[in-house]
Amino acid sequence: MSSRTLYLDNNATTQVDPAVVAEMLPWLSEHYGNPSSAYGLGKRALEGIEAARARVAALLGCDTAELIFTSCGTESINTAIQSAIALDPDRTHIVTTAVEHSATMKLCEHLARRGYEVTWLPVGPDGQLDLEKLEKAIRPDTALVSLLWANNETGVLFPVERIAEICRAKKVLFHCDAVQAVGKISLRLADSGIHFLSVSGHKLHAPKGVGVLYTSKRVRFTPLLRGSQETARRGGTQNVASIVALGKAAEIAATHLAEEQTRVRALRDRFEATILSRLPGTSVNGDRENRLPNTTSLAFEGIEAEGALLLLDERGVCCSAGSACTSGSVHPSHVLKAMGCTNERARASLRFSFGRFNTEAEIDEAIEIVVAVVEKLRALSPVGSGPVLVS
Ligand code: PLP
Repeated sequence: MSSRTLYLDNNATTQVDPAVVAEMLPWLSEHYGNPSSAYGLGKRALEGIEAARARVAALLGCDTAELIFTSCGTESINTAIQSAIALDPDRTHIVTTAVEHSATMKLCEHLARRGYEVTWLPVGPDGQLDLEKLEKAIRPDTALVSLLWANNETGVLFPVERIAEICRAKKVLFHCDAVQAVGKISLRLADSGIHFLSVSGHKLHAPKGVGVLYTSKRVRFTPLLRGSQETARRGGTQNVASIVALGKAAEIAATHLAEEQTRVRALRDRFEATILSRLPGTSVNGDRENRLPNTTSLAFEGIEAEGALLLLDERGVCCSAGSACTSGSVHPSHVLKAMGCTNERARASLRFSFGRFNTEAEIDEAIEIVVAVVEKLRALSPVGSGPVLVS
């Protein structure tokens, strides 16, 4: 095992910013009141929550009253979709895409078993949607369109503003899973035509276990967790310290948006360009133009990603496979498969995602390790026989 960690998996989670930790600590010790309590200690906790709400609203460009704190991105997504379908019981059709995060996919699969009809829009080889197909898929009984802003595996950005326009014209609700987009690209929700938008704290240098749901004031909302907190829109005593942390993370993210577009993008581009030139037989998965500045998904001919991950981990590099490992069997990524990748290509793909704590020296070190690991695996692979399975 390497003693040094080269963390290139910022789409999985991010390091909590030390400034965020510092901001949150007093809320775990001295300010421990229940925000619903009427005395000073409780009021102080509520003030902390409201200050955080204002910071998140500033990042998202919306009103504070439109934000509900949740426990994670998954809860926000589940709440948005269930709220939208609760609005009109006669609308039993949902439009989503074939490349969604499991939070959306699993809920839509569940709803399909409960009698809803789900249209899974396909994507092209670049991971992009055909907007004409989206428009045609919307019907009079469509309750909701729910899709990603930025894909967690490839970083591909859907044209959310245009999609919101289509939904507006068709008078259908639109939920956007912006878990990977927030903090990386600039958003302004006011007048955007987006009705619901999901955010997760741990993707933007806040801790795990806190999220936000934007719910437009133009739409009637139905809670998932019933109770009195969050103006009766999300029951359960708020996770005050993590909410304060998310507020600080949002404030910092707002000041670092330009850096994501320049310094983080430059790190990603340097890594990608060097790997592509030093390892022939490597290619990028998905649209390279309309993509998050921090993500690259690379297919390495002649390797098996699961084996590469083990060797990279031994050398301190953290990244992800384009495939998920479930109870011992390797399933190629549904995202790469939806883009038309063969099983072989999907299994030979690795995702590297960068963040503001990465340095140029780390990138250069990681490049040498990735090149050595891929060359080693390729040397083990019998020529022309496809990827080798390591262990
Ligand atoms: N949506 C996307 C695109 C994600 O990448 C993730 C997390 O990986 C989620 C939703 C779920 O967020 P959370 O881990 O906060 O539940």
